[in-house]
Amino acid sequence: MTRRYTEEDQEHYERPRRHTRPRTKDRPSYDDAVDGTVVTVDRGRFTLAVDGVRVMAMKSRPLGRKGVVVGDRVRVVGDVSGAEGSLARIVEVADRATVLRRTADDDDPVERIVVANADQLVVVCALADPEPRPRLIDRALVAAYDAGMAPLLCLTKSDLADPESLLSTYRSLGVPWVVTHKGGNLDELRERLSDRTSVLVGHSGVGKSTLVNALVPEANREVGRVNAVTGRGRHTSTSAWMLELPGGGWIVDTPGIRSFGLAHVQPEHLIEAFPDLDEMTEDCPRGCTHGADEPECGLDEAIAEGQADPERVESFRRLLAARYDATAL
Ligand code: ZN
Repeated sequence: MTRRYTEEDQEHYERPRRHTRPRTKDRPSYDDAVDGTVVTVDRGRFTLAVDGVRVMAMKSRPLGRKGVVVGDRVRVVGDVSGAEGSLARIVEVADRATVLRRTADDDDPVERIVVANADQLVVVCALADPEPRPRLIDRALVAAYDAGMAPLLCLTKSDLADPESLLSTYRSLGVPWVVTHKGGNLDELRERLSDRTSVLVGHSGVGKSTLVNALVPEANREVGRVNAVTGRGRHTSTSAWMLELPGGGWIVDTPGIRSFGLAHVQPEHLIEAFPDLDEMTEDCPRGCTHGADEPECGLDEAIAEGQADPERVESFRRLLAARYDATAL
């Protein structure tokens, strides 16, 4: 073959006789594709960040049923000008470094990917009004550890209550934390968010939207601009929205997420987030969940021999049990 594929050729090519031949061999090479990041997904339409420009795109046929989610790094061809009415095509999705999942609820084992390639999960929790709900924090932490993401507690409304009693619950797990209040200084939080991709979760009333707007002053304008194209509101169908921080890095707001189903989380995977504890379970009986009711768990032996911090083990087991709690976030 002496010439490159043109756009028309690709369109023609991508209309395959679906079940009669493997497609991977003859796929066009997309030499002209550019890199993009998926910032939000709405009814099969994807908003991408391509070189600082917001570009609308759809999946190309060769991707088939492969899911494309917020945070995905993609290759894209076609019109990437971002001009009104333009539509580019996603032709490749890169392997994901991390995957934050949730099950719709604990009785429904269908996994949904919330965000790909994020490295930090920020659990936003008010210290008062509404009262903190540690079990919900626990569930978000389980999701973070399961995803291989670093957790961060962001405790808001510190002008209303002291953080100490809540923090004591998480100290033995080594969860880092920052404290904020309305109108307060966000420098410490900004530093923790800088140059990484952080997903913010929190139930209503904790001040998450206030934080997002303070961190990304352009947030409302950007969401409005994209919605002008898709004709959707921010709180309707999207469950995640990626926003660029002025100082470098990204945050992912999750306005559509009201629950964190954990049915997909495997205990043997959860303990891998705690290598020191994981090491102590090497001689556990086959199938041991490392929970408090396990008769011969290595964690109990380690406590008895003074090798494990009982509080840390207890906190880990609390997380393990949180998988079975009510799902509301
Ligand atoms: Zn065990």
